[in-house]
Amino acid sequence: MPVKRFIAGVVCPRCGEMDKIRAWQEAGQQHRECVACDFTDQLDLQAPVNELPTRVNQTQADPADEIQVVRLITKP
Ligand SMILES: [Zn+2]
Repeated sequence: MPVKRFIAGVVCPRCGEMDKIRAWQEAGQQHRECVACDFTDQLDLQAPVNELPTRVNQTQADPADEIQVVRLITKP
């Protein structure tokens, strides 16, 4: 079970009560809930940045071909 901790000084955006927000992490997401009302919120902690390098590596073969084409065109 995830550990839910109160966040000091945080005001609930729904009911406006301070120190009523609890936060915890579960399944790669940051969850928040208010114990004074039924407010809940969540946001992703895992940014998709890690997937970008593999996508770039898969398309690295193309630039070399483009350079050869440019050299052929620029010959007199
Ligand atoms: Zn609230």
